[in-house]
Amino acid sequence: MTSTVRTGLVPPTLRTLPEAIGANLAIARARTSARILAVVKADGYGHGAVPVARAAVAAGADWLGTTDLAEALALRAAGLTVPILTWLNPSGADAEAAAAGGIDVAVGSVGELAALVSRSTPAGVRIHLHVDTGMAREGCPAAEWDALITAAAGAQRHGQAQVVGLMGHLPLADEADPAANAPAVARLRQARTAVRAAGLGVPLTHLAATSGTLTDPSTHFGMVRFGAGLVGIDPSGTTELHGASRLTAPVVHSAAVEAGTPVGYGGTYVTTTATYLSVLPLGYADGIPREISPEACVAIHGRRHRIVGRVSMDQIVVDTGAAPVPPGTTATVFGPRDGITPTIQDWARWAGTIPHTIVTGIGARVRTSA
Ligand SMILES: *Cc1c(COP(=O)(O)O)cnc(C)c1O
Repeated sequence: MTSTVRTGLVPPTLRTLPEAIGANLAIARARTSARILAVVKADGYGHGAVPVARAAVAAGADWLGTTDLAEALALRAAGLTVPILTWLNPSGADAEAAAAGGIDVAVGSVGELAALVSRSTPAGVRIHLHVDTGMAREGCPAAEWDALITAAAGAQRHGQAQVVGLMGHLPLADEADPAANAPAVARLRQARTAVRAAGLGVPLTHLAATSGTLTDPSTHFGMVRFGAGLVGIDPSGTTELHGASRLTAPVVHSAAVEAGTPVGYGGTYVTTTATYLSVLPLGYADGIPREISPEACVAIHGRRHRIVGRVSMDQIVVDTGAAPVPPGTTATVFGPRDGITPTIQDWARWAGTIPHTIVTGIGARVRTSA
């Protein structure tokens, strides 16, 4: 390479866009009269749990949801005061911490309930009965509903727990098809009837995730759990949502090369003309998928430029053609849809995956800002 310039390493930056999260929440709000729980698991789908939660609550989310208790307690510690539900905790999860933090815990088996209430506080832990509505992943199988409901009623009588919610999950979550969801809806109604018959009243019932929220009111019950949609991912493919983050990196190295120059490990790409190459300081350790199609590109100064050669652990090389790009110039890896900037949906297509894995795969070296 010739005319090499190197600058100090400025890390790539992921900026979270609260306006987009607010706009996405508003789209969900327009599709349902149910309460909206904003799901911010996996660090807000890679966008930062706290900034996503704050933006969602500011835009009217009624609840927050996380996978585990530690994620939920972090939201409380950040000052978020709306109800929070967590649904995947190992047996023996810390009921005292949950009760003290005002965190609701979903319970999917008699064993989990027993372990939880054995550590419960005088006030009792708030629980949501989690029933399997056809996914065989989490939630209580139908054959054990009666035992779970009976145990929950007992725990409530003894002041060890308050049954405040009932949840299921849609197995065909991505299908914008009410007929596909109907069996799960029927199962959850059946569970609700059994809960009511056990004298537990009518708990807040919830089933739908993003796709159900956007496409199928019959799945909404009392609350919907809206996660991917917050950050601009619509698994149902029916609704244009707003990209909620922007990943940028500075060009750290630029060089002119001759035609016939192999680029990167293995020389898998060879330049066909004299051209300029630019190096960006992010690679598969930072969440750039290693397997990407030749169309994969970044945007620099409002133009797309292809990534050439193999993705390294820490670097990618971009072919900027006849135009040299000075080090320090900002390249945008993905951002909101504007016709030029690659989107997370583009990246998912280039990598043969779903946009969820693109955003949740962003590595720890990437600086985040809201
Ligand atoms: C992740 C998750 C959601 C949110 O799903 P999205 O499709 O991302 O909105 C809802 N409920 C449960 C139980 C989940 O694990």
